[in-house]
Amino acid sequence: MIENCVVCGKMKTPGGSMATQCEDCRKRVWELYKDIPGEWKDALFSLDLSDAAMAIYEEYNVQGLEWGVIAEYIMLIGVGLKSEADLRGVLVKEGRLRPDEARTLAREIVSLYFE
Ligand SMILES: [Zn+2]
Repeated sequence: MIENCVVCGKMKTPGGSMATQCEDCRKRVWELYKDIPGEWKDALFSLDLSDAAMAIYEEYNVQGLEWGVIAEYIMLIGVGLKSEADLRGVLVKEGRLRPDEARTLAREIVSLYFE
């Protein structure tokens, strides 16, 4: 379970469901979102891309890390607060993937959205 905000590292407000960010960082994400390129904005909210990314995630049978966390990382990568390496890290640490699996999964998802 992710207990601390993945952006600033502070403890999240209890009851914040499966969100990975504290309230302050969530607001910051939305402010940054306004300035990203239009095609990324479209990509971040594309249901087709989300389905495709979820299918990739399911293939890897990730343990201990819900899809929602991956979806939030995709958003954070989009606004520049996280990188592909950070996604790889959380896939190993929380998702218990082998480093090579995490590398491939992170690569596939990031390239789907941002290339
Ligand atoms: Zn935070």
